[in-house]
Amino acid sequence: EPHVAKFVYDFTEGNKDLKDLLGGKGANLAEMTNLGLPVPPGFTITTEACKVYLDSGEEPPALRDEVSAHLDALEQRMGKKLGQADDPLLVSVRSGAKFSMPGMMDTVLNIGLSDKSVKGLAKQAGDERFAWDSYRRLIQMFGKTVLGVDGELFEEALERAKEAKGVQVDTELDAADLKKLVTAFKKTVKTEAGRDFPQDPREQMDLAIHAVFDSWNTDRAKLYRRQERIPGDLGTAVNVCSMVFGNLGPDSGTGVAFTRDPASGHQGVYGDYLQNAQGEDVVAGIRNTVPLAELENIDKASYDQLMQIMETLENHYLDLCDIEFTIERGKLWMLQTRVGKRTAGAAFRIATQLVDQGLIDETEALQRVNGAQLAQLMFPRFDEDARAEQVGRGIAASPGAAVGKAVFDSYTAVKWSRSGEKVILVRRETNPDDLDGMIAAEGILTSRGGKTSHAAVVARGMGKTCVCGAEELEVDTKRRRMIVPGGHVVEEGDVISIDGSSGKVYLGEVPVVPSPVVEYFEGRMHPGADDADELVEAVHRMMAFADRKRRLRVRANADNAEDAMRARRFGAQGIGLCRTEHMFLGDRRELVERLILADTEAEREESLKQLLPLQKRDFVELFEAMDGLPVTVRLLDPPLHEFLPDITELSVRVALAESRQEPHENELRLLQAVHRLHEQNPMLGLRGVRLGLVIPGLFTMQVRAIAEAAAERKAAKGDPRAEIMIPLVGTVQELEIVRDEADQVIAEVEAATGTRLKLAIGTMIELPRAALTAGQIAEAAEFFSFGTNDLTQTVWGFSRDDVEASFFTAYLEKGIFGVSPFETIDKDGVGSLVKSAAAAGRSTRPDLKLGVCGEHGGDPESVHFFHEVGLDYVSCSPFRIPVARLEAGRAAT
Ligand code: PEP
Ligand code: MG
Repeated sequence: EPHVAKFVYDFTEGNKDLKDLLGGKGANLAEMTNLGLPVPPGFTITTEACKVYLDSGEEPPALRDEVSAHLDALEQRMGKKLGQADDPLLVSVRSGAKFSMPGMMDTVLNIGLSDKSVKGLAKQAGDERFAWDSYRRLIQMFGKTVLGVDGELFEEALERAKEAKGVQVDTELDAADLKKLVTAFKKTVKTEAGRDFPQDPREQMDLAIHAVFDSWNTDRAKLYRRQERIPGDLGTAVNVCSMVFGNLGPDSGTGVAFTRDPASGHQGVYGDYLQNAQGEDVVAGIRNTVPLAELENIDKASYDQLMQIMETLENHYLDLCDIEFTIERGKLWMLQTRVGKRTAGAAFRIATQLVDQGLIDETEALQRVNGAQLAQLMFPRFDEDARAEQVGRGIAASPGAAVGKAVFDSYTAVKWSRSGEKVILVRRETNPDDLDGMIAAEGILTSRGGKTSHAAVVARGMGKTCVCGAEELEVDTKRRRMIVPGGHVVEEGDVISIDGSSGKVYLGEVPVVPSPVVEYFEGRMHPGADDADELVEAVHRMMAFADRKRRLRVRANADNAEDAMRARRFGAQGIGLCRTEHMFLGDRRELVERLILADTEAEREESLKQLLPLQKRDFVELFEAMDGLPVTVRLLDPPLHEFLPDITELSVRVALAESRQEPHENELRLLQAVHRLHEQNPMLGLRGVRLGLVIPGLFTMQVRAIAEAAAERKAAKGDPRAEIMIPLVGTVQELEIVRDEADQVIAEVEAATGTRLKLAIGTMIELPRAALTAGQIAEAAEFFSFGTNDLTQTVWGFSRDDVEASFFTAYLEKGIFGVSPFETIDKDGVGSLVKSAAAAGRSTRPDLKLGVCGEHGGDPESVHFFHEVGLDYVSCSPFRIPVARLEAGRAAT
């Protein structure tokens, strides 16, 4: 039997697991319908239909008939026809992709109204004003989103109508005013779009469906998807839903609600309600809403029912849900629900709260948070003791402490941030056109709108600081300034500070203090202690869940005792990479310079002799800080020129001395040596194991320092666990030579000190050849540590120091990759080499220890990959250790 595609699902046919096909909104409308909740009847057109439309430019041939069949069924059920003159069925046409993209795509309400049916609606509703208000909204939305008319033109006309009448808000316009407005709107459509506003309801509906399909590919939707890493080929579903009206008078209204506070996670009554209004009014922050709790006084029956439904939804979804609802003349309708976005702090709190309520287990709790959220909680906050001048307070919409120059439009935000300025985007309210400005800004401040306004929702999604609805601030975007209470004027470019956790707005730059989560990791704040807040408690518990679950161990990249101790406090289980070149900076650089430039054996030995005790002392400190835990010390790796004077600078010095006829013998000698050692491509030149092979005594000095330091720690009853790591090996022969020399030195130190040291010797895998011959290399290595920075550089042929600044933006824009391969491991290329090298190494040596120490070791997505390919540990910078622990736990669930 041939497969017949089904492009349309009635709300009674779907369920919450069909998000790929029905989008998030459609899947959840179906789920609520099947839960028996009051959802206005309707149907969903699938993302598959959208994909066909976007690929071919035409809707799939079968779609029209399917839509007709579902529309028929809907009309029968409602007992009226779409746009019927005496009693019209009206529908909304709403977008809904798999992942929520707040305000990014299109919605058209009140489809089915026309010059004729507006009268029928007026009669049926017994309310002429309402009918004309609905009609003007349809022409406005349809004109803007379907016919591409500049929305400002409608807004301005509405403003003019209010001014002419001398009123403040749209509810004060009467039926006659709105009728006039409809005429004006229709004229605008005709002149701007070159066609009449369509009077045929089915034509309205079909055009709106196409407009929703098309809205998948608007610039702002594409930008949002890139930002949120949402794939570009998913398409959107379209929901056609019978209309219910919140604008039928004071016993009607519309609102949004959360089953818990999306900022703190606390259970309670959270949301906003707007009487006598339609949905878009709330989200767009057009009029000021009242707190949801007030609904109890306005309409107790609906309020009670809503509370009941919210409980049903939480128990069903086992998570925070957000909800859009409408009350039509005292009857409650559910228009949308989904598992709600939340702040990073709330995510941790909600996860532990749900565990305590017995709704989810630890494993599930770990899926409710992620490393990016934890990283966000580790950012500093404003110093509460600082004497800052507070000039306003809005709603704490998205946490964080942001300082920057005030700018009043997105264009300036983008321009200034490109030139390196930190900016705060200040707007009366934001709309989807502000997206690039919001991305560019440190934080967002608005004077209107609630927790569910566009600015708040989008900022939370991006993890960007946001204060919204700071009403006492008078934002004047035209004159690019803001007047604060007391009359002070903040001009474009003046520095302000905003606190997204308290909603406070300050003039000037407020100093910041460390986050409580960092204080906790540092051991300066204890869960359960008086000063510990709920957040610290929740993080503490989630870390314990993760540590119990994870198989991967987590080590630190650290080169000094201070970093090592911090890493230990943050939960590091050893050091995975000590870069010894970092020990040769400052005064010691000169010693290395002398070593490199030595003409005679004696000179070279002299500088090695001086370096030895310095290195030894470094290692003693490090082994002490990490007592009992492994410390992988990498022998010197970087290209030599990093230790030599700059060739141009030196040439100038020599030329100057020459022209002044001053003595310059030493400079000249140095210059000649620098010329001799100069490389076109130092990253592929004399570095890593190659240094050890051509500079006699260098690696053996380092090995001796490690061995003697370990012996000293043992003598002091310590437990040093040093591992010696050889960088940039390409063939087992290199490793064998260095290894033989090292073994000999270690034996000498063991004999001299009478201690058995048990120093493991291993190598980095950071060249393709090393990965490809890993089976051979494992014969001479007790461990591998994947250097995925260099491995990415050499596998792709990308210079790690240059490409991110030069052409990666273009690559990202063209979608060649979604994220830099230096940030997240390229699974298919670099990752597959890691996987096969790990397998080959283990088949030679089953107890081969495997780790990774490139930057990817602290990247959430990469950690999951390393877990999957069976590495033993990841190593990352101290501050990323908690993130790696959490993600390793998540990966193991
Ligand atoms: C690597 O190449 O991944 C690595 C850890 O070494 P470095 O970054 O020091 O080159
Ligand atoms: Mg490297």
